[in-house]
Amino acid sequence: MANHQLNALHSPERRELILRAAVREGLLHPEDAQLAGFLDLDAVAATVDSLHRAFPGSLDVLHAFATKANSLVPVLQRLRELGMGCEVASPGELAQALAAGVEPARIVLDSPAKTRRELARALELGVAVNVDNWQELARIDELLTTRRTRSRIGVRVNPQIGSGAIGAMSTATATSKFGITLTDEGNTKRLVEAFRDRPWLGWLHCHVGSQGCPLDLMAKGVAATVALAREINDELGRDQVVGLNIGGGLPVNFAGDEVTPGYQEYVERLRAHAPDLFSGKFQLVTEFGRSVLAKNGFTAAYVEYTKNSGGRAIAITFAGVQVAARTVFAPESWPLRVAAHDATGTAKRGEPVEQDVAGPACFAGDLVALLDTGAYYASTPFSYNSLLEPAVHGVTVTADGIVRFTTLRRAQTVEDLLSRTGG
Ligand SMILES: *Cc1c(COP(=O)(O)O)cnc(C)c1O
Repeated sequence: MANHQLNALHSPERRELILRAAVREGLLHPEDAQLAGFLDLDAVAATVDSLHRAFPGSLDVLHAFATKANSLVPVLQRLRELGMGCEVASPGELAQALAAGVEPARIVLDSPAKTRRELARALELGVAVNVDNWQELARIDELLTTRRTRSRIGVRVNPQIGSGAIGAMSTATATSKFGITLTDEGNTKRLVEAFRDRPWLGWLHCHVGSQGCPLDLMAKGVAATVALAREINDELGRDQVVGLNIGGGLPVNFAGDEVTPGYQEYVERLRAHAPDLFSGKFQLVTEFGRSVLAKNGFTAAYVEYTKNSGGRAIAITFAGVQVAARTVFAPESWPLRVAAHDATGTAKRGEPVEQDVAGPACFAGDLVALLDTGAYYASTPFSYNSLLEPAVHGVTVTADGIVRFTTLRRAQTVEDLLSRTGG
């Protein structure tokens, strides 16, 4: 799938088609459904296809979707059908991946804080485990004295190559929290010894950061990890490191409809910095999250009122902090585009005006769409003001323009809310 084909799936015309159908079917309704999420499953399929194609077919690659980016079970199920596994970071995400039918061998457990029981369960299931630190490694030693496992076990390293544009999203600075640091005194030597003593350690894992990390920075982190794999194998005189997990982190363009960068572009940077990755000597795992889904979803909401405060035009909508916590609390790091539609879902084509919800002028009763919210929005709810979580609908469009919806998550009800809050 070339990027221009992908781009065709991210057009304003397609969004308009989907929104008009959603209004007709009552999935958006001024009283009953003022807010809803939409995930374009055709675009998701095209994106996953572009991911598969970016890596040479001759390599053994598992693309494990980072579940935290969208943990809805039907979404994970769809991604499984498209050939992806899951990266999980909690017992909840593990349960969601298993509920989606993902085979344990295609699940990777990465959380930095795994209890003994969680580790034992992962090893029993055969879920791949990446060890975060020396104490966790000792725990696995202990667990393996009494059991055998099919799990692929690796060590997460922090290549300490620096920060991207968003500090909180950068995980490979000198002092980042996750993994064993590579440039701290003595660690490389200690890692070589750790592998020498543990023939069951066969993988290395790194995840340099998410959104805001330049491709070259990510590729340099991967290169440092590949170099360590070579060093371990050379020192031990055997091919003990059989696999490399290169994490996720491909940034997403939130500024326009264009899908850029593409996976192909990242693979080119990886080839330049870490050619060994493509030598065929290593199995590979990737853990992309945001880039798989962000541009394939949007959140739509009615504008209930408009007003003017101190010269500032304000549109009061139902899409608040409960569905866009990151954007509301850190708008500089997480800007979102807003598209304006009338009450029927038809796009408003006027000149954009500055409004608290930016876009062509919105009137009460209009619909606004927060674009590129397919990742990290539905999975990052914020139950402020006890606002209910909206439904999320899957969308497919036939060749002759017929829009079909499926329920990925039903809307939370007041009863759900009361039971969750002890009522
Ligand atoms: C968050 C995370 C990912 C996914 O990052 P994206 O930016 O969504 O691609 C992958 N691996 C690990 C370990 C993570 O923490």
